[in-house]
Amino acid sequence: MTHDTDADVDVAIIGAGPAGATAAALLVRSGLSVHVLERSHFPRFSIGESLLPQCMHILDEAGLLSTVEAGGFQPKN
Ligand SMILES: Cc1cc2nc3c(=O)[nH]c(=O)nc-3n(C[C@H](O)[C@H](O)[C@H](O)COP(=O)(O)OP(=O)(O)OC[C@H]3O[C@@H](n4cnc5c(N)ncnc54)[C@H](O)[C@@H]3O)c2cc1C
Repeated sequence: MTHDTDADVDVAIIGAGPAGATAAALLVRSGLSVHVLERSHFPRFSIGESLLPQCMHILDEAGLLSTVEAGGFQPKN
């Protein structure tokens, strides 16, 4: 079946949550082409209040840290 999303890409990722978005960013940085399929419209409803410090180096490696920091979220000490 031919479909608009049948692009010729190296990797298809289902879900643009933290896992899918980070994987996509890392794969693109390594030179692969990626197509992310997400059923929700963002920003989507998401429960959560904090981000563990261990996440920061992964966000940095994926090139997403500056965007997260620009969000102006409250730091917790
Ligand atoms: C109540 C609660 C509170 C939490 N609080 C925190 C917190 O404070 N800090 C923190 O770091 N973590 C928190 N978490 C954990 C955090 O939400 C998860 O670890 C994180 O969302 C997991 O990311 P993920 O990408 O694996 O999955 P998800 O975030 O679930 O993303 C999956 C994505 O895939 C999409 N999808 C699913 N099926 C399909 C399909 N068939 N086709 C297309 N798209 C699809 C969904 O729409 C979704 O956008 C909390 C979780 C819960 C439940």
